[in-house]
Amino acid sequence: AVVSPYRGRFAPSPTGPLHLGSLLAALGSWLIARHHNGEWLLRVEDIDPPREVAGAASEQIRVLEAFGLVSDHPVVWQSRRSDLYAAALRRLLDQGDAFTCRCSRSDLMASDGLHRQCVAHPSGRVHAYRLRVPDATLGFDDRLRGRYEQSLRQQVGDVVLKRADGLWAYQLAVVVDDGEQGITDVVRGADLLDSTPRQILLQQRLGLPTPTYAHLPLLLDEKGSKLSKSTASLPVDPDDPLPALRLVYGALGQPTAALGTGQTTSVLQRALASFDPALIPAKERRVIDLHPGAFP
Ligand code: GLU
Repeated sequence: AVVSPYRGRFAPSPTGPLHLGSLLAALGSWLIARHHNGEWLLRVEDIDPPREVAGAASEQIRVLEAFGLVSDHPVVWQSRRSDLYAAALRRLLDQGDAFTCRCSRSDLMASDGLHRQCVAHPSGRVHAYRLRVPDATLGFDDRLRGRYEQSLRQQVGDVVLKRADGLWAYQLAVVVDDGEQGITDVVRGADLLDSTPRQILLQQRLGLPTPTYAHLPLLLDEKGSKLSKSTASLPVDPDDPLPALRLVYGALGQPTAALGTGQTTSVLQRALASFDPALIPAKERRVIDLHPGAFP
């Protein structure tokens, strides 16, 4: 077999049932991976117990399976990977790229997002570990949205790696795992666009390669706002996957007439056969334009 150079992933947080927005990211990342004859991996980002709902992760996996979206390798659970995150933090501390921050939230506010001089409580307990960010602009070329740049000091600030409550930060875990799993292409929702420059900085500090990035359109409600819980969860039904599949395929700019009906697996194969990444819009989509029935 030919070894594929493409490896993508979908990395949901188990904070509730899989909603339409997540399904769009799942399907979009799967279609683009398969379009490149690549692998698609599923990773459960369960490092924030206070925000998690019991059983949500296995339910999300079950729903994805009902849509025909199955990980090519055993599912990775972030809650079992603390050793990897600790090793990365140790390396950053040893290199002088990370520091222990004793600032309170209000100290940080006062320092205008510039979280470097944590001198307010020098003898206080450690509140967090942070990555020192340079006074520089970091940009990348998003496959869908084009050039995206941030001024790291002004727009990002020193990045939390481990929180004051002892939990690992998403930014560290995602970078360590994308690197360790050999992810070559990150395809995810546009809500994470502004997390990308800091993730690239972390990759550089950890000596990890930078994958390519594509940020998919977000689904919005009829007023153009983020989907409410009720709307978002409306059409995702694992016992009747086709309406939701049709909706997110359309949101990806693809011709839904090509899908036809019948078994979910055959519909998914037809979705792949007529999939054209060049049709994916670089702007957010209103669910009402795609599926008027979603708003009774
Ligand atoms: N776990 C993150 C979320 O559900 C996504 C991480 C990623 O795709 O980089 O928002």
